[in-house]
Amino acid sequence: MITFLSGGTGTPKLVRGAREHLPDKEIAVVVNTAEDIWISGNHLSPDIDTLLYLFSGSLNTDTWWGVRGDTFRTHEELLTLGVDEYIGIGDADRALHIARGDLLRNGSSLTEATSTLCSRLGIAARILPMTDEEVATLIRTDSGTIHFQEYWVKHRGKLPIREVIRYSPTGPSATGEVLQAIRDADLVVIGPSNPVTSILPILECAGVIPALMDQFVIAVSPFIGDAPISGPAGALMRARGLAPDSAATFSLYREFCDLFVQDIRDPIDVPGSLRCDTLMTSGEKSAALAGSLIAAVRGR
Ligand code: GDP
Repeated sequence: MITFLSGGTGTPKLVRGAREHLPDKEIAVVVNTAEDIWISGNHLSPDIDTLLYLFSGSLNTDTWWGVRGDTFRTHEELLTLGVDEYIGIGDADRALHIARGDLLRNGSSLTEATSTLCSRLGIAARILPMTDEEVATLIRTDSGTIHFQEYWVKHRGKLPIREVIRYSPTGPSATGEVLQAIRDADLVVIGPSNPVTSILPILECAGVIPALMDQFVIAVSPFIGDAPISGPAGALMRARGLAPDSAATFSLYREFCDLFVQDIRDPIDVPGSLRCDTLMTSGEKSAALAGSLIAAVRGR
């Protein structure tokens, strides 16, 4: 079994590739929930949603969020009615958020709600929220502190970041299901997700790092040179006082990482790293990278 730690773009691309090598029931994905937000009365969990759509076969892989071919009728009506719904939520996507919102309002934990949705969508993989407690990534800007979604979607990542703040009133702790999935794995993979907003929130959940120490962990860099393949990872690393590159990413994972993977084009040298083509621009390339990781764990 492979257990992934995942955000909503880079690692799901690698999970797509892993599905070519092993059945879905042999895959578990521990998912960041620090970008979750209640919006227009419903519960958006962007990274979990991407994985639900990936495994159910409906993901829009042009954007790596939302449902392929979705319509935006309700979103457009809400804007006409003056509702400041700053995230363009598709109609089918919203149906999922309504269903999850209802489960949560009726007392399910996020883990239970996700498991219910997996059953209803016929998903055999285990999609596991990192925690059932409230966590949010907030961005302090010159004009106030805002939710990460507001920074990235409403302001298109253009505001200078003064500080990245993790808000969690209670902890947070990893769920028992998450710790079990790490312990049961033959291989744990930290995919090429945004270190600051996707992977660190998972690592900050109590119990995760000790569980990783006992396992063989491979981490894949989301950077080539001093830039991420996509998204705001560079600015977020700088805001944490880190260089936006593979060496700084490795420094965050060094304690428990057994094998670090860098792209063949990356000019930064992390001694001992495995060099692969990590640009997953097609299903075939995702499968080839996943295959190299599986070969690395078998060959050790
Ligand atoms: P988010 O939740 O949407 O921010 O997505 P993730 O955190 O899962 O992934 C974002 C990161 O994925 C970015 O920092 C990108 O550099 C990285 N990324 C996207 N596509 C690829 C790819 O094909 N290869 C690699 N190595 N990294 C990628």
